[in-house]
Amino acid sequence: MGHQMVDFLTDQLRDSQNANGKVLSWTDPVDALKSLSDLKGNDPSELFEFVSRTSIRLHHPKYIGHQISPPLPITAVSSMLVDLLNNGMGVYEMGMGGTAIERKIVEELATKFGMPETADGFFTSGGSLANLTALLAARAMKTDDAVWKFGTQDVRHVVLVSEAAHYCVDRAVRIMGLGDSGIRRVKTNSKFQMCLDDLEKSIEELSDEGRVAIAVVASACSTSTGSYDDLDGIASICQANKIWLHVDGAHGVPVVFSRKYRHLVRGISRADSVTMDFHKLLMVPAVTSALVFRNSSDAYRTFSLQAEYLFDNRDQEEWFNLARRTFECTKQMIGLKVMSIIHTYGTEIFEQNVDQLYDLTRSFAILIQQDERFELALEPESNILCFRYLETKHQEHCELNAKIRTALVKDGKFYIVQTMLDGQTWLRTTVANPFTSNEDFQQLLDEIGRWANSILREEQSTI
Ligand SMILES: *Cc1c(COP(=O)(O)O)cnc(C)c1O
Repeated sequence: MGHQMVDFLTDQLRDSQNANGKVLSWTDPVDALKSLSDLKGNDPSELFEFVSRTSIRLHHPKYIGHQISPPLPITAVSSMLVDLLNNGMGVYEMGMGGTAIERKIVEELATKFGMPETADGFFTSGGSLANLTALLAARAMKTDDAVWKFGTQDVRHVVLVSEAAHYCVDRAVRIMGLGDSGIRRVKTNSKFQMCLDDLEKSIEELSDEGRVAIAVVASACSTSTGSYDDLDGIASICQANKIWLHVDGAHGVPVVFSRKYRHLVRGISRADSVTMDFHKLLMVPAVTSALVFRNSSDAYRTFSLQAEYLFDNRDQEEWFNLARRTFECTKQMIGLKVMSIIHTYGTEIFEQNVDQLYDLTRSFAILIQQDERFELALEPESNILCFRYLETKHQEHCELNAKIRTALVKDGKFYIVQTMLDGQTWLRTTVANPFTSNEDFQQLLDEIGRWANSILREEQSTI
């Protein structure tokens, strides 16, 4: 069955890469459920085929939608080993090799960040969880673990974050029991980056109000537009005010592997903690995230709670017992998926992928700028790009672009998404596949043009 699966996947991969067929075959939720119920018998290949048929194809060059990588095939092969061994990773003996792998990769990352020898970290399940874990550490450091012991009554803690930050930061603050007033939104500039003047002003206001800023979360890059905050500038403000700097680099911190683009995260070495996903730019299956601390001892403060049946040595900072620092107890051996790439191809392949995707996105932006049917929201810094179809006679750009996007998804030849910027709907793309070409971009623009015409014609005829 394993051999059959490898053959099946090889065919699927070849078809996707050669752009045979659609990116997705739209299936209504009720129909998907019905097809599943209709499966009879005990042949798993039927089930695998059903899932394949009803899944979006990331290796298709016309997949230009959400921020997730088409994984390198070697990672899928290592996933088989990970799943069959099923080592739980919480304590050392439940994944000895896997623990060594995490350690080695995190050390390499910390070096790439330019952090001192004291830096350390671990893998965790997703950027959202990594961000929450980092903020819990920031609070533990600021409050001497008081909240951990006594709860959040009477606390006046605040996390500062830009208006463009990922929603998981807002969610983390609320999970921490800080509510509405626990988050202070810092304004963004015209490029959707955190406004440093407003950050300083907000910190002053908070101190006047008698509130305690426990952390600033910088985005590298932001989710909607892929804009990089000025990490160096923010680090200076944090340092002057003794506030923890957490860099949410879930999407964009992999530029540390690129000589061409690493300037985008200048100042990252000064962060207290950094979140980075491997599943958005580095060809690793989801979810595979690293959380790195500049001072390794900070990481042990997050969860002061002891679990006697897991750890016998209460006070030592044992890097090899991972669950001391992770929210998870049982965790997949996700490090192997990353290591299988590094071991086989070297980290150069990360650099090549980032450069290719970021370069491609810049050339897509040029195509859009040269085409008067379209408007670019802003010049892309990363592989995320927002634009929209312009129609002067049609005042409702938002409605038209949303309709175009729905039509595209149901048609299935391309996959793109949408976002809201300053209250307006924009089409949004993430160039995730290094084999996507300028020709694909041109075809996408023409396809959008055709849909726009047909939507407008239809509206005309119903008036
Ligand atoms: C994707 C993203 C997240 C969430 O990460 P997950 O791995 O999906 O949990 C957080 N922050 C930013 C900036 C992101 O782009």
